[in-house]
Amino acid sequence: MSRILARLDEIYAIGQHRGAYSAEEDAAHALASSWLREAGLDVTSDEAGNLFGRRGDARVWSGSHLDSVPTAGRFDGALGVVAAIEAAERLPHAPLAVVAFRAEETGPMGSKRLTDRPDAFLEVHIEQGPVLAQLDQPLGVVSAIAGQARGSKVFEGRADHAGTTPMDARADALLEAARFILHVRECAREGTVATVGAIEAEPNATNVVPAKVTVSVDARSADADLLDALVEEIGFDLNWQSDPVPMGDAFAAVLPDAPRLVSGAGHDAMFVPNSSMLFVRSLNGGVSHHPDELSSAEDIALAVDALTDALARLVS
Ligand SMILES: [Zn+2]
Repeated sequence: MSRILARLDEIYAIGQHRGAYSAEEDAAHALASSWLREAGLDVTSDEAGNLFGRRGDARVWSGSHLDSVPTAGRFDGALGVVAAIEAAERLPHAPLAVVAFRAEETGPMGSKRLTDRPDAFLEVHIEQGPVLAQLDQPLGVVSAIAGQARGSKVFEGRADHAGTTPMDARADALLEAARFILHVRECAREGTVATVGAIEAEPNATNVVPAKVTVSVDARSADADLLDALVEEIGFDLNWQSDPVPMGDAFAAVLPDAPRLVSGAGHDAMFVPNSSMLFVRSLNGGVSHHPDELSSAEDIALAVDALTDALARLVS
């Protein structure tokens, strides 16, 4: 087994769920600190608890996060930190830093609160989707992180007896919500995705016609105009919207033939200036936030090679 896979197992053994600022996340940071020292890096942390292993005047950073969701696998976040340590060891004279940001899954709470900012940040991350596997490619360069729009829509009907109220005399809120859910799916065409992931029905009783239903909407696109048009077409109450974040070309420079991908998920790289991201193929159908999440040792080795090359170009 490669050292990277062994280290990912060690982090996972601390706990599948390493929540924000929990004892488990602390333990993962302590373990990573020992590896950073072994790699000859000076270990510090900032006010937000982000962990750094620095060498010299470190204006180029690489890393990811060590916290995890309750249903997590081994690779999301931890891979980027462990890969960055490997690359730092291969460049023993390069001024650089390896960083483990705090609480990415619930914020992110660490990368948002940076006080020191790098000239460039490189993040290796498992794809968390099936695209690279479908393309039969080990690595993909992230062109942008999608913007997101979130909100909800409320449908008002009238509670009635499910047995005695004729079908043509009902105001069924859930029926209207069901039409809307299909409409959301139809609105999400090329370059966008949209999801209804949560429903609240009232009174939520088997023998009562639904009186009120609230459905969530999550819409995403890497193109700001497409996202605005999608939100407009769906028609819902917007609670929150973020713009797409274009990624830099540090990985494209060393992998000119690798496919370009949009990240539909948020990452620390959104909040660090001059970020570039590299995705590693997800096996098992691209499953993520799940114990079956998997990248192969061979694909990871290629990612570490690319990260090392990209870092070497930036620090020289
Ligand atoms: Zn992650």
